[in-house]
Amino acid sequence: MYGAHAKCYTYPMESIIEVKGLTKTYGNVLAVDHISFSVRKGEIFAFLGPNGAGKTTTIKMLTTLLRPHDGSIRLNGFNALKEPDKVRRSIGIVFQDPSLDEELTAYENMEFHGVLYGVPKKVRRERIEELLSMVGLWERRGDLVKRFSGGMKRRLEIARGLLHHPQILFLDEPTLGLDPQTRVSIWSYVERLNQEEGITIFFTTHYLYEAERVADTIAIMDNGKIVAQGTPEELRAKTGMTSLEDIFISLTGRRIREEEAGPMEGLRLRRKILR
Ligand code: ATP
Repeated sequence: MYGAHAKCYTYPMESIIEVKGLTKTYGNVLAVDHISFSVRKGEIFAFLGPNGAGKTTTIKMLTTLLRPHDGSIRLNGFNALKEPDKVRRSIGIVFQDPSLDEELTAYENMEFHGVLYGVPKKVRRERIEELLSMVGLWERRGDLVKRFSGGMKRRLEIARGLLHHPQILFLDEPTLGLDPQTRVSIWSYVERLNQEEGITIFFTTHYLYEAERVADTIAIMDNGKIVAQGTPEELRAKTGMTSLEDIFISLTGRRIREEEAGPMEGLRLRRKILR
């Protein structure tokens, strides 16, 4: 099961991500509207919001894939606009859209990533074995990825994102479309990484109970702005609500889960899963 706030150490107050006045527009759509927030080193940070709130745009700016129109980002001590390479080496990314090469084996996918990031050969071999074992795929290392289930692919993507020893792992909907048992196992790997390797986790999810169980801090975004940020307890105190579902509705006026929002949104979710 999930660790459910099992961590018993206190966090250093040091921020590993510092965002100030971050802004992005697409034409006349203000997707991200002067947001400021920070993430502490070693914490699990959930970034939540309804569809179109601006989460993906924010993550793309944090991971140097998109240039902001305004504001600043400091990540692992580096300026994301001026030192994008150093930022990229500090982060691992698992996006919604799978990016594995299906015609290669699990090991070859890892190897390719290691070469791209300049991980030395000897370190690479050891690290690949360590990571594939951690996600339970070492015995399947020689199998083509196209024969893997959705959960196995996601586990492989997480292992691959960690090969170059990133300080921060970005997970955009890491459990989208997976069955409940696989979701639990993905989170247990992620929590182990966080606890054993001290990696900061920044994730989005539409499954609020996942955020409630694993996150140390939750930020809620709506219409391009951060409408609340705090520990689950702080959000409960702020809104007077108990469940994250109710907290979310009270802050955004909407449910987070698309399936409950109507047939068009349901179609959109399915399209995302199949993409
Ligand atoms: P979801 O949960 O559906 O992924 P999100 O919170 O990640 O949503 P974004 O994808 O960042 O939200 O979108 C924020 C806003 O910017 C939305 O109004 C969206 O329609 C718009 N937007 C996103 N990407 C583009 C783009 N490439 N061109 C124009 N508008 C865009």
